[in-house]
Amino acid sequence: MIEFDVAQQRLAQAGRLPERTETCELGAALGRILAQDIQAQLDMPPADNSAMDGYAVRLADVSDGRVLPIQQRCYAGEVPETLKEGMAIRIFTGSLLPPGADTVIIQENCQEDEHGVRILEAPEVGANIRRRGEDMRHGEVLIQSGTRLTASHIAQLAAQGHAALSVYPGLTVGILTTGDELTPAGQPLRPGQIYNSNAPMLQAQLLALGVAAVRAVHAADTLEAIRDALQSLLAKCDLVLTVGGVSVGEKDLVKPAIESIGGQLDLWKVRMKPGKPLALAYVQDKPLVCLPGNPVSSYAVFALMVSPLVRRLQGRRETLPAIRYGVLQGERHFQGDREEFIRVQLDSDEQGRLLVRPFGNQGSGVISSLPWAQALARIPADAHVAPGDVVRIYEYSQWQA
Ligand code: AMP
Ligand code: MG
Repeated sequence: MIEFDVAQQRLAQAGRLPERTETCELGAALGRILAQDIQAQLDMPPADNSAMDGYAVRLADVSDGRVLPIQQRCYAGEVPETLKEGMAIRIFTGSLLPPGADTVIIQENCQEDEHGVRILEAPEVGANIRRRGEDMRHGEVLIQSGTRLTASHIAQLAAQGHAALSVYPGLTVGILTTGDELTPAGQPLRPGQIYNSNAPMLQAQLLALGVAAVRAVHAADTLEAIRDALQSLLAKCDLVLTVGGVSVGEKDLVKPAIESIGGQLDLWKVRMKPGKPLALAYVQDKPLVCLPGNPVSSYAVFALMVSPLVRRLQGRRETLPAIRYGVLQGERHFQGDREEFIRVQLDSDEQGRLLVRPFGNQGSGVISSLPWAQALARIPADAHVAPGDVVRIYEYSQWQA
């Protein structure tokens, strides 16, 4: 049996980094993976400017009761004059700081009439000024290659004037489901049949990771059907996932099908629950991962084991997301000889502790536990874990992003 962390590391390194890059416009960059370091091409702000609506002054000119005549009204986008001694310039948020001024006094602390402005309350020298380059400095690396772009990165890129970016091409992933008992949702269910939940589930999990191009194929439980489906997926995809059909049953034909097209299958018994059987193969240099058929197992194995491989193939820097820690709630004690991943809800208490509440029925066939939960909590093998103990948490929002 392979330890969970070892298997996870191996999968995270099982793919090659992308070789090609493409150009993407900023407006279409959400979720794309950067293929270049982004450097600041400007100081931000580009010049000292006002953080508030108010008056730009030389603080030494301010004294009790003194009225400073208004030299100019300078709106954002305009170029101010040099401040003359003993005067004030009316200024607004984002207005350039007039040369000669050293402080901005907020308008709430001033009184203006036709003679000028009286300062009711003076701040410290330098107050309410945003300094050139205090946010970003020309030449500084802002976003590293391999980052998946979010709305906040897009704000930073736009602020720097980047209109086109070098990104990695999107992946195409194939999903092959097997099993004569499976019917696609939307069709009537005949006796002995169940709906195919793994294909749409995996497609959605892939989409959450940023893989939009998914080819899902279902094959009957025959060697020929599985082999043909595999070959057509391998021809078009960067990665192929198969579901079910890899145990030792008479209809478990995925392994022989992979071998019949020249693939070498590394079948692992991973010391994890749910999920134990997992296989990795390379066919024509392309990675292929065989997932267990039970939907809960398939979900957990995809989130914990396959997502790192997908991130690697996408060119991402971080393939293993962060793990958090929380305190187990409820009454149930856990103990087992495999690393167990239980479906849990997360909450917090007034002390700021993260609370972890397990779903009642942790059976690997219980699909209703999946949408109920927000995370998988890890119960270590060969340990007795009791309520109040701290456990590791793999949040869906982190592990499927
Ligand atoms: P298998 O490894 O093919 O024997 O599958 C194990 C279990 O998972 C069986 O109960 C299958 O019916 C079920 N299963 C396999 N594939 C799917 C799927 N795509 N959707 C839902 N259940 C599945
Ligand atoms: Mg089957």
